[in-house]
Amino acid sequence: MAKQEQIYQIPVNDAFSQKEHCPLCVLRKELEDNFIDFYLGPSLMEADHRLVTNKKGFCHKHLLKLYDSQKNRLGLGLMLHTHLLDLGPDVEKILEASTPKDEKRKLFSKESDWKTNLQKAAQHIADRAQSCTICDRIEETMNRYREVIFYQYVYDEDFRRTLQTGQGFCLDHLAYLVEGASLYLKRDQAKLFMEDLYRIHKPILDTLAGDVEWFTLKFDYRNQDAPWKNAKDALPRAIHRISGDDLHE
Ligand SMILES: [Zn+2]
Ligand SMILES: [Zn+2]
Repeated sequence: MAKQEQIYQIPVNDAFSQKEHCPLCVLRKELEDNFIDFYLGPSLMEADHRLVTNKKGFCHKHLLKLYDSQKNRLGLGLMLHTHLLDLGPDVEKILEASTPKDEKRKLFSKESDWKTNLQKAAQHIADRAQSCTICDRIEETMNRYREVIFYQYVYDEDFRRTLQTGQGFCLDHLAYLVEGASLYLKRDQAKLFMEDLYRIHKPILDTLAGDVEWFTLKFDYRNQDAPWKNAKDALPRAIHRISGDDLHE
């Protein structure tokens, strides 16, 4: 493994050694918290970072997190101001393209194209609203983590055993790892990895379905006095398994 990659090993190993949450959700959450602090902190004064935040801005979720953290409202204000100076004119120009100010009224200049033009305009506005500095940074680093996970899965027996005896992954990250297996493993390695994923997830998913069913059956008056077994927290467990573990934020 390249030296540069070694710095990713520690967080990866820490996340895999806890057994409570999806390890990749743990890694993602850590990155998210760090980036929220970073963009409200030192990066504000750095021109390079401001160029990026001016252009990309932040998605809905991360704007709310930046706002809710209440760490630096002035900083958030400064960042949003220069982002709006970039965003505003861009959106205005699109809307303007149907008015007399745009002599050709570009959006409607050809009889046949106006629907496609509106769809393109919609897409452009949506892209600008959703583009996110923090999501992109998280994705970049998660990809590094994923490479390290597969490297260690192949070369580090202890890590492989930790993964094999763990609680598996939420479905989002299961998909992410299945995709990763296609990118980083040879065919025979990928076969074994997929076997491991099956062995881990099959009993978990079966049990979960049973627990959720028992949760619903407990509402039947005939089961009123029956024990809850493992069903009490079946709904949050099912939600985390299906859609990721936001670690109760
Ligand atoms: Zn996850
Ligand atoms: Zn985001």
